[in-house]
Amino acid sequence: MSGFDGKVALVTGAGSGIGRATAVQLAAEGARVVVSDVVSQLAQATGDEIRDAGGEAVVVRADAALAQDHARAVATAVSRWGSLQLAVNNAGVAGVRAPLHEQAVEDWDRVIAINLTGVFLGMRAQIPAMLEAGGGAIVNLASILGAVGRTNAVAYVASKHAVVGMTKAAALDYAEQGIRINAVGPGYIRTPLVEGAIADTAPIEQLHPVKRLGRPEEVSAMIAFLLSDKASFMTGGYHVVDGGYTAQ
Ligand code: NAD
Repeated sequence: MSGFDGKVALVTGAGSGIGRATAVQLAAEGARVVVSDVVSQLAQATGDEIRDAGGEAVVVRADAALAQDHARAVATAVSRWGSLQLAVNNAGVAGVRAPLHEQAVEDWDRVIAINLTGVFLGMRAQIPAMLEAGGGAIVNLASILGAVGRTNAVAYVASKHAVVGMTKAAALDYAEQGIRINAVGPGYIRTPLVEGAIADTAPIEQLHPVKRLGRPEEVSAMIAFLLSDKASFMTGGYHVVDGGYTAQ
């Protein structure tokens, strides 16, 4: 496939799970990919996987909570390949599970800084380069928890609802300038984030009508579609990939 031939893409949190699957898929479809993650070794491994498969990747260590790190990741795309057209703001953390009154303020701040402010800072850095390039497309990672709640997860749920709203507002800001911005809401996907936060996933599987967790590639397929020209009339949307979870 070559749907992204000539395009430059940036994926945050690309060292693991959904971000890694997305970076690998975009590269397989012809994009040159900036692989960004706060953990250098993880980003390096994704970069190696892309290059081993014959794709093009450059690796950047970047903390999604820091404006200067987003600026550096975008500058890397532009200096290496001349432009940036595609971005996936995927970096995210689960946070410490606790009922609201036991939630440490520090953990609330950390989840909001990465999951919400990180997406804002990402778009703020990426959009000027896309305007320069004459257009682009962005996908922000929300969650089914951008539409419904969950126990012991106030910060995560708040951050993901906010990503959905921010995506709509940002899409309106750039609709006339050729930049499409959408959010994706995965159900529970078998990644280190879920396996680190949930000891026994069997009960969680039962919450999905399809009775299993999703795979990272089932989410990256939606992300790649939204970034592609096939989705040329889609902006400001929130698209679940959840095995029927939110249909119940
Ligand atoms: P993951 O833990 O497998 O991967 C997340 C990656 O982000 C890791 O490589 C990690 O190093 C990186 N990261 C963490 N903090 C960072 C920071 N401050 N700056 C840059 N990188 C950072 O997680 P995943 O399951 O692939 O989740 C990816 C995104 O999808 C997250 O936004 C998550 O909230 C969302 N999501 C996941 C699920 C799921 O069930 N796995 C469901 C809904 C939404």
